[in-house]
Amino acid sequence: MLIFKQKQNLKPWVESLIKDGKTIAFVPTMGALHDGHISLIEQARNCYDIVVCSIFVNPAQFNDPADFEKYPITTEQDIRLLLKGKADLLFLPQVSEIYMPHETWPESYELGFLETVLEGFYRPGHFQGVCKVVHRLLEIVKPHALYLGKKDYQQCMVVAKLITDFHVPVQLILADTLRESSGLAMSSRNKRLSESDRVKAAVIYEILTYIRMHIAPGSLRQIKQYGFEKLIASGLKPEYIEISDATNLKPIDIWDGTQQLVCLLAAYLNEVRLIDNMVLN
Ligand code: AMP
Repeated sequence: MLIFKQKQNLKPWVESLIKDGKTIAFVPTMGALHDGHISLIEQARNCYDIVVCSIFVNPAQFNDPADFEKYPITTEQDIRLLLKGKADLLFLPQVSEIYMPHETWPESYELGFLETVLEGFYRPGHFQGVCKVVHRLLEIVKPHALYLGKKDYQQCMVVAKLITDFHVPVQLILADTLRESSGLAMSSRNKRLSESDRVKAAVIYEILTYIRMHIAPGSLRQIKQYGFEKLIASGLKPEYIEISDATNLKPIDIWDGTQQLVCLLAAYLNEVRLIDNMVLN
């Protein structure tokens, strides 16, 4: 596996591959890799000639500086996992390599409603930061396909809008969430959970599954309330639990039985913020 830290080295490498007719898939990450990330790499490898992964802890997407400071950095272990996943190239830039002065990138991205709800509401500026980095990385790597995890459901919608609005010639592929055997969604943040908290956190999957099994046309208020109370009773501090239209994230209070729904939630367990979601029908 090649490792490039500078885009001036990566760009000609990519260009020559494209000239040779190779197809390139790209998996952007913030490191602290786990099997969920590797599942994206493996899926990409099955469909494309070359798999490029990036590790970049993007300061622009952390609305809470303390969260940025605490973000786990495990580069050596990450490289071992990427070798196991058979990635072809790792792009490992410094902040100054991505955010260079005097470059003509949009000041901000028009995300409309998507930026006002759920993660957008609770993490102001987060999706602007996501767009800033993804737009720049796509321009550097120029992949044919971009692999993102449905674990970050709203992020997938935001990036889809970025790709459409800026006519980026890339196919967006959304991969299913890989979970621990307990149902807990794999996440870099899980590394900050104690063993007993990991057990507790499995209630998130239990709630999502319960809601999927019991959803029925009519008012959804009671079932959302059930989820909220169950999180609290299990020792988590919910930020939100919402059932939304899966195509636009508009909250649904009364379900007509036909709209496609997704349940999304965010909750703190001690200091660790966990998010998860499930498409319900
Ligand atoms: P992150 O490093 O957290 O920014 O994640 C990098 C990519 O991996 C994003 O597209 C995530 O949605 C995806 N991802 C994170 N966790 C999982 C998981 N458990 N299963 C599948 N994909 C994931």
